Amino acid sequence: MAKRTLTGTTLDTIVSLAKRRGFVFQSSEIYGGLSSVWDYGPVGVELKRNVKDAWWKSMVRERDDVVGIDASILMHPDVWVASGHLDSFTDPLVECQECHRRFRQDQIEGDTCPDCGGAFGEPRQFNLMFKTFMGPVEDSSATVYLRPETAQAMFVNFENVQTSSRKKIPFGIAQIGKSFRNEITPGNFTFRTREFEQMEMEFFCEPGTDDDWHDYWMNFSMDWFKKFGIRGEKLMLRVHDADELPHYSKASADVEYEFPWGWGELETISNRTDFDLKAHAEKSGKDLSYFDDQKKERYVPFVVEPAMGADRSALAFLLDAYDEEGEGKDMRVVLRFHPDIAPFQVAVLPLSKKDTLSPTARRVYDLLLANFNAQYDDTQSIGRRYRRQDEIGTPLCVTVDFDTLDDDSVTIRNRDTMEQVRVPIDNLEAAIREQLNTMRADCQG
Ligand code: ATP
Repeated sequence: MAKRTLTGTTLDTIVSLAKRRGFVFQSSEIYGGLSSVWDYGPVGVELKRNVKDAWWKSMVRERDDVVGIDASILMHPDVWVASGHLDSFTDPLVECQECHRRFRQDQIEGDTCPDCGGAFGEPRQFNLMFKTFMGPVEDSSATVYLRPETAQAMFVNFENVQTSSRKKIPFGIAQIGKSFRNEITPGNFTFRTREFEQMEMEFFCEPGTDDDWHDYWMNFSMDWFKKFGIRGEKLMLRVHDADELPHYSKASADVEYEFPWGWGELETISNRTDFDLKAHAEKSGKDLSYFDDQKKERYVPFVVEPAMGADRSALAFLLDAYDEEGEGKDMRVVLRFHPDIAPFQVAVLPLSKKDTLSPTARRVYDLLLANFNAQYDDTQSIGRRYRRQDEIGTPLCVTVDFDTLDDDSVTIRNRDTMEQVRVPIDNLEAAIREQLNTMRADCQG
């Protein structure tokens, strides 16, 4: 329904809405901010949590062939030797000879500096891993790295997880967590930052079945974004050319979203072959092969990996939900989030702050809190409060008015249709569930 005709918006509009409504703030803003580093506010933290929860639920809790882990950010330095990151996790960097600004060579158009027109020096390879020291002595033997991806923890824990969970191949290990990359040119708000969260899953399968599993996870990924409301026409699956493939990959495809500045990657689904398990087996001296007791043979599993960014996805959900209705001072800004992605599902709004209404409104709020992510707001005029809830994408508002004191009923107002229905408090939970279900169906991309 309404989803199909969303107006869309510019990045600037989203950045200012994000600050005004508490989605995202610049980090350390009172000190002038830290470039390309962002903090999620009270509304944004709920949005990002919902994105992660929706992924975890689809990827881990609703399947019996994927289990989760939560590994440390710091890992043994040899992990990054074996994985190839120490040698080849680099981007080509060029520096302007005039103003000394540095750029990622593959992201600039033309041969001269886009800022001052100066000439570039020779390109060099720049390693993107952040280094730090472990313990009180700052020498090379104490150097450790902040992980640039979460995936390696799944490879080095393969045997621990497989034996403790007693999963048989094919099965996957999933993780959500922070990763760090010293990007040369971060930007576009939370799209490319130096500290970000990833949602990754390594799916271990028998060699020879990997191409089929790659197809399966590509479809799964596209369907996941659509299921939670991203419009299909804003999504595309882009298969990598052979010359784009990283050293570990046999085939890769990106799920891309049409951002206001063009198409950009949300997720990569890669066929990582047996590269990682073999590399770690060789470096660590531990056998990471698997005995298939049905086939009665031993092999090193192949791995298919869907790797998604939580921040990038949250930004895509935010941009994709944006809609404007009407014009001039009657214009209404609405974020038409899927109910499972919306920061809050329901807001309880007493018509007035008067003591006569508050206890009943609080009772309704307490009732809803047990089942929904709910907000209580009694600050400004009811019109302004509806606007605020529309702007943060709350699907339903429950208004408690003076009639409620007599008839023990409240009004539910629907974000998308703006229709209002009166329901007895006794039926409120069921009525909310029903409306949210209808909105879920309407939101499919
Ligand atoms: P890009 O080509 O944009 O640099 P990538 O191909 O290096 O990304 P992957 O290594 O495939 O990215 O990481 C998987 C996902 O992690 C990406 O699809 C993206 O959503 C997220 N991601 C990667 N780098 C960043 C970053 N600097 N900031 C925010 N998210 C990121």
